[in-house]
Amino acid sequence: MTQQPQPPIPYEQTSDYRWTEAAFRLLESGALTASVTASDNVSSAVVEGACPRCVHRFTDRRPLTAVSNGLGESRAGVPGSGGRDLVEPAGSREPVVLDVTCSCGVAHPTGGPGTADASATGGCGVSFRIELAADRGPAGGQQ
Ligand SMILES: [Zn+2]
Ligand SMILES: [Zn+2]
Repeated sequence: MTQQPQPPIPYEQTSDYRWTEAAFRLLESGALTASVTASDNVSSAVVEGACPRCVHRFTDRRPLTAVSNGLGESRAGVPGSGGRDLVEPAGSREPVVLDVTCSCGVAHPTGGPGTADASATGGCGVSFRIELAADRGPAGGQQ
C-alpha cells in the first residue's frame, strides 16, 4: 500500500479558542509538551510537539521575562540527561501563560490573495494559549 502524502492545509491566521482547547487535549495526551527550563537565572519556556491545527511538529522556545529574584541562588549545574530538566522558577507560583503561534516550518499555501506574509513564519497561522501551572492544580478546575 502506498500512502499519499497529504498537502499541507491552507494557511489561516486564527486564534479561535477551539485551538486552545485542542492544544490542551494534546498536552494531556502527551502529543504536546510544555515546560520551563532555567539556566543562568534565565527561564525559558519550551513548547514542543504537534500543532493542534496542522499536526506538524514544532518547537517554540522563548525566554521568560521577569525572573524576580535577581541574584538568588543559581540553579545551574543541575545534573540531568541532555539538559532537559524541568525546573520550577524559584519562588514563582504563578501560572505561566504562553501565547503560541505555530512555527512548524512547513510552507502552508495561502488561501487567497488577501492572506499575505504566510512565508514569514512558516506555520499554519494558528495561535493558541497554553497555561503552564507552576503548581499542579486539580485538572479541569475552572473559574
Ligand atoms: Zn500548525
Ligand atoms: Zn504546519
